[in-house]
Amino acid sequence: MADKNDRHNNFKNIEMRLEKYSFGMGDRFMHQGRAQLQAVINAKEAGVNITPVWNKSDREHVIVGTEPLSLREEADAAVAALGWTGPYRVDADHINMGTVDRFVGCSDFFTIDVGDAIGERAPDADISAFVNRHSRYVGELEIPGAGSFPVTRDTIAQVAATFLKAVQTAGGIYRHIVEQRGMDFIPEVSMDETANPQTPLELFFILAMIADEGIPAQTIAPKFTGRFNKGVDYVGDVAQFEKEFNDDLAAIAYAISEFGLPDNLKLSVHSGSDKFSIYPAIRDALRRTGAGVHIKTAGTTWLEELIGLAEAGGEGLVIAKEVYAQALEHMDALCQPYATVIDIDAGQLPGAAEVNGWTSEQYASALRHDRSNPAYNLHLRQLLHVGYKVAAKMGERYYSALREFESDVARNVTENLWERHIKPLFIDREDS
Ligand SMILES: [Zn+2]
Repeated sequence: MADKNDRHNNFKNIEMRLEKYSFGMGDRFMHQGRAQLQAVINAKEAGVNITPVWNKSDREHVIVGTEPLSLREEADAAVAALGWTGPYRVDADHINMGTVDRFVGCSDFFTIDVGDAIGERAPDADISAFVNRHSRYVGELEIPGAGSFPVTRDTIAQVAATFLKAVQTAGGIYRHIVEQRGMDFIPEVSMDETANPQTPLELFFILAMIADEGIPAQTIAPKFTGRFNKGVDYVGDVAQFEKEFNDDLAAIAYAISEFGLPDNLKLSVHSGSDKFSIYPAIRDALRRTGAGVHIKTAGTTWLEELIGLAEAGGEGLVIAKEVYAQALEHMDALCQPYATVIDIDAGQLPGAAEVNGWTSEQYASALRHDRSNPAYNLHLRQLLHVGYKVAAKMGERYYSALREFESDVARNVTENLWERHIKPLFIDREDS
């Protein structure tokens, strides 16, 4: 067991440590870094320390035509411009072995996505070895805070049959990154892009596998129950989500003590933007347990750009309308890469001619995620969410509008992250 103890030792000497609260922010067009950071500064002034993490996936880089280094440069520039002295990170979001290399030099947070390998079977010998190594959990396994679960050798073998190969894949990617840059980075293992939510018992054994693989994971992204569609509110059973979230916190806390994983290991909530109806449950759970969390948001900032451009009027409003018309025309192609994380009812989408007749206020009201506004249209919002490729194709015309109307856009970007995300998650004492 010397090997295993060495690994535990490594977990205690992690070189880069992620703080208790961290907030992932995506910025497809690289102009909102300062406006995003301002929301985190507002939190600091309200007494809550949040580490900003700029995240961008390979898919987003490819669609927009940017290189990973540009995100590092944007983060550094925003931090310098606003005089931010706290920690900040740059996340290679949803990387795998095929895409990781161009992120290695410029990221210090790696979201290792092994969703595709879930359900692939590891070699039988590896599955038996895993069962033997963890056979002390056979019987009634009590996870403090989550209840007790009957466990047989077969239970453990089944979890291993579903997840061991995925965790072995994560281990391979983790070691590939270490070989190139050493251990000064934050590894996350993400399993959110898969069909079924993991149970707390599965999460416990997945964490055993992560420890066995020697991955000093600091965040883990499970799949939760319900729909986490892009840019819109949670769809599902909020009470069930709350139970699952609390049980996952309990499973993580127990796994830290059982397997010696980093003691700051915490949940990462993907597609975390705009999930307003579950924020009270998350906030209450964090407050009750003292646990930390990473909330990952991405496309919500791009939608605020459109709102800001629409509100600016003139060429800004023209561009916002053109993006909609083009997105409507190319809806199928734009939706295809995001098919599992959007639910658009085409019958609820206004026609391009109607939108072309809208005022700034009408456009902003339809798009802005204000549940109390009857004009808010979540179908239009989801379509525009996946429509950023249209703006990418506009190229310099779009970028020059971002510069020209910077103050309108920045105001919306900051207010969205601060008022609608950070405040209800981390600041507010009570829901009104
Ligand atoms: Zn994700």
